[in-house]
Amino acid sequence: MTTTLIKNGTVVDPANKVHTRLNLMIYDGKIALCTREEPAADRVIDAQGKIVAPGFIDVHMHEGGRNEDQSLDTSMFLAELSMGVTTALGGNCGNNAFVSAAQYLDYVDRIGIPINLGLFVGHTDARQRAGGVNKYGPIDGETTRRMLHNLEEELAAGCIGVSFGIKYTPGTTFNELLEVGSLCKRMGKPISAHIREDAAGAVDAVREIAEIARLLGIQAQVSHIGSMAGYGQMEEALGLLDEYRMNGVNLGVDCYPYDAFSTEIGETTYDEGWLEHYHTTYESIELCDGPYKGRRCTEELFHKLRREAPGTITVCHVMIPQEVELALTHPSVMVVTDGFLHNGQGHPRAAGTFPRFLRQYFRSGKITLDEAIAKISSRPAERFRLAGKGRLNVGADADIVIFDPDTIAEASTYDNPVRPPIGIDAVLIGGETALWNGQVENGTLGRALRFR
Ligand SMILES: [Zn+2]
Repeated sequence: MTTTLIKNGTVVDPANKVHTRLNLMIYDGKIALCTREEPAADRVIDAQGKIVAPGFIDVHMHEGGRNEDQSLDTSMFLAELSMGVTTALGGNCGNNAFVSAAQYLDYVDRIGIPINLGLFVGHTDARQRAGGVNKYGPIDGETTRRMLHNLEEELAAGCIGVSFGIKYTPGTTFNELLEVGSLCKRMGKPISAHIREDAAGAVDAVREIAEIARLLGIQAQVSHIGSMAGYGQMEEALGLLDEYRMNGVNLGVDCYPYDAFSTEIGETTYDEGWLEHYHTTYESIELCDGPYKGRRCTEELFHKLRREAPGTITVCHVMIPQEVELALTHPSVMVVTDGFLHNGQGHPRAAGTFPRFLRQYFRSGKITLDEAIAKISSRPAERFRLAGKGRLNVGADADIVIFDPDTIAEASTYDNPVRPPIGIDAVLIGGETALWNGQVENGTLGRALRFR
């Protein structure tokens, strides 16, 4: 087994409160030595002038499904790798790419994907499979029983917890949330929620999830708060979470650094009344795929696509930038992508989130480098108990990103959502080189993470 030395870099490791020039020796996939000496190694990486940090961790993304030829759509995982992400959690907002999340994890281990992956099992999918076909209505006792059975199987097979997409399944009652939450409590698993309502309804929706966590004593995550409360409700929503947390409730919250959300045009988001709800016009919608890619919507186009192509991906430019900033500078908020790509199309957050966050918040001086790195490595690892991740002490997994603090920036745009960022020099996964000078060197180093 070979040794690798990363030398001359500035190691920033918030979990260990380290920010200093240190050399790291890697052996057998782990950090084997942290030293100011320069021991001999089979391979030496000179990180002079660069930051050496734990690989970034994205606890809210959407894993790819199958391509037409049945191969796995790995475009989202490649986008993550290009940003310095080494571990991600998918299966969010109630949905999974495969019928069985556990089988997806097995598949990941068989083929190897660009990054390490854990999965939530989605409540919406499990509810549908159990026979809850009407997303606007409640489910009966028998359907609930089948759904819980399915969720339990998936959790037992190693899914990290249950995700909800309540906004997209408005028939979900508070009682149904409690039933699923009770299962999670019994199995020691967290829940993660795209909450019931955004904009004017966001604060009540935050309270609903906080109440579930309080009543059951379980861990809950409020997903992408920017797109939920970024319309004038942010201060109140964050304040409410702070209050609950100070009373012992186990709550986390995350956000992506963009003031536009993304979803399919057929979703409940665009049901009757959405224009008033967001105080906006049809033109706030940008169409991201199909024959109208790049075009702003019109009333006529909106109704046509809702009818004929409800899967069309949209980006909706409606959030208030200052509200997103309020979230991202709050000490409890972690940074996530919420990224999803279909055939390389989607929102630029998929391939831009982490470099953009570092550019907008660290490089501009809004927060320190240590705080920025904490939000994208140590805090998510701690919160979701990702053993060996998000830190660089001896014994930790050698999942590492080396980047240039002076140039790091996103390059993805609404026109080109997958253009790789600038300033990411190298990404190592388990001590092996996954990305070198912006080029993918090995896209199969990622493994499934299972939680039992
Ligand atoms: Zn969501």
